[in-house]
Amino acid sequence: MKRNFYLSDQTLQHVLKKNLDDSFFDYANKKLESFGELVANEIDERAKHTDRTGEPQLLKYNKFGDEISTVWVNEGYRKTIEETYQTGIVGYVHKEIPSLQKKGNYLYSFAQGYVLSQAEAGFYCPVTLSMATAFLLDHYADDELKSRFLPHVCATGDVELFEGATFLTERQGGSDVGANVVRAVRDGENYRLFGEKYFASNAGMAGVAMVLARIEGAPSGSRGLTLFAVPWRDECGALNGISIRRLKDKLGVRAVPSGEVEFDGAIAYVVGDADKGLKYMMEALNLSRICNAVASVGIMRRALTEAQEYAANRDAFGRKLTDFPMVQDTLGKLHAKMEIELLTVFDLIKLYDRVVVGQATADEVILNRLFIAILKKETAEQAIHFAHEAIEMHGGNGYIEDFVTPRLLRDAQVLTVWEGTANILGLELVRLIRKFEAHRLFVNFIKKRLECLKDSSKKHFSILSAELEELTRTFEVFANLDEETQTLEAKTIAHKMALLYESLIAIESAIDLGGKHELLADIYLENTWSLRKIGEPAKSLQLFKSY
Ligand SMILES: Cc1cc2nc3c(=O)[nH]c(=O)nc-3n(C[C@H](O)[C@H](O)[C@H](O)COP(=O)(O)OP(=O)(O)OC[C@H]3O[C@@H](n4cnc5c(N)ncnc54)[C@H](O)[C@@H]3O)c2cc1C
Repeated sequence: MKRNFYLSDQTLQHVLKKNLDDSFFDYANKKLESFGELVANEIDERAKHTDRTGEPQLLKYNKFGDEISTVWVNEGYRKTIEETYQTGIVGYVHKEIPSLQKKGNYLYSFAQGYVLSQAEAGFYCPVTLSMATAFLLDHYADDELKSRFLPHVCATGDVELFEGATFLTERQGGSDVGANVVRAVRDGENYRLFGEKYFASNAGMAGVAMVLARIEGAPSGSRGLTLFAVPWRDECGALNGISIRRLKDKLGVRAVPSGEVEFDGAIAYVVGDADKGLKYMMEALNLSRICNAVASVGIMRRALTEAQEYAANRDAFGRKLTDFPMVQDTLGKLHAKMEIELLTVFDLIKLYDRVVVGQATADEVILNRLFIAILKKETAEQAIHFAHEAIEMHGGNGYIEDFVTPRLLRDAQVLTVWEGTANILGLELVRLIRKFEAHRLFVNFIKKRLECLKDSSKKHFSILSAELEELTRTFEVFANLDEETQTLEAKTIAHKMALLYESLIAIESAIDLGGKHELLADIYLENTWSLRKIGEPAKSLQLFKSY
């Protein structure tokens, strides 16, 4: 039987069934069944080729010596682009799904993204850049700009596709966006851009890029940044004053061309209010951070699948690897973390869907930002850990490029860097606590959801209550520290918050899904909070017997 990343994932099917109405679920279920097979087979094969021998190339000049700054991608990659966007992974968040006559949502899009990134985390990057571009145009562009670009960014085979891009980072720094110096010079009704963006993913592939630049005379720092929509080519197909200096030679995610881009008078259109550029981009960045978490759980799932399959088939000392307690323990713990982190990310996505359509309360809007920061950090770190464990489970083979495991590790490694490093996410946590007392919102959120579980899960309730009390005491000390000292503690606290959120989800899923999920919750809690004493039976081994 052919591999299928959707049909083999009962947890994802459960999430969709529980959160989509019947007709939407029937549609999504059917579409994901075929997408899950496509990704696990053809797209996976093409991804291997793109990574090893067919990566994007910069064609800087044509045969006459003219600058063309075009990016070549292989035939299979083109097919993957076409097939993926036609699923509506970007488009159906913003326009109607024809057969349902209503818009889709982020939950469905992220379900597709999670399946896709199990084979092509590199190409999921351009998809997420297109998602961010569509978000910015849909929310903030005026009608003229919207009608010009949005249908193309949301194309599903109906009109020409324009992939998107978001260019913030400059040579002097990516975290400190306020230091941006790319200039915007007035030209009639619009502007022309001059300067360089140093990390520009999807360069040469994007039809339109969302770019931060400083209008001449605007204040320094982040307040003086404006968001522009910049088409890659003009209406005649010529380059719009843009050139690519070079493509980066990267450790991983080789499917996405990341370039150094120079603007020399590129025509640029202001999006929204000229003085709110950074605010808009930060909103898009939060969407991208969820995409990052989705790609992370995709890599985690693939790493787990590969480790499980290899261990079940490999012999050592006359036994299968899966006969050894240490192997069972490793796989059991990874399995529990995987399922619960996936459910937690989708719990956040449910909230995000409400925030985006304006249905969330003011407190929930803050919680949404908080969860994005702590889960982006946690999932990215776990993706690297899972890829490392998958290599370990394969022994020497895990290090060899015939297997997918080295690519998983190389691709995972970028997830902690782009869309905000761990330190930058730690700073976001400090900001949210200082400005909005987000720590109190977090404690109340966990308490409220725990209260609903009190009767059905007594043993777990006490573990989580005790950990929450300890974190509350930590918050009391933290809140009284000066800002500089708070930054020192921020990452440890963010990690603890992620574990508490996940523990809540573990308990809820044990009640909601029952069966194997009760054991997965036990393993998760036992491992996370070091509950098992030496010599006691390990729940991870119990899980293995139930397979
Ligand atoms: C493959 C790839 C593709 C990319 N694509 C894009 C893209 O398409 N568009 C785009 O705009 N950017 C892109 N980036 C850039 C990426 O977003 C930045 O690399 C990232 O934001 C970090 O910025 P930096 O590299 O300048 O590192 P720096 O900002 O110089 O940071 C270096 C280190 O210092 C730490 N640091 C910085 N400030 C602080 C502080 N105040 N407190 C504590 N620690 C701090 C950081 O956490 C980090 O560990 C891409 C990067 C990569 C690797």
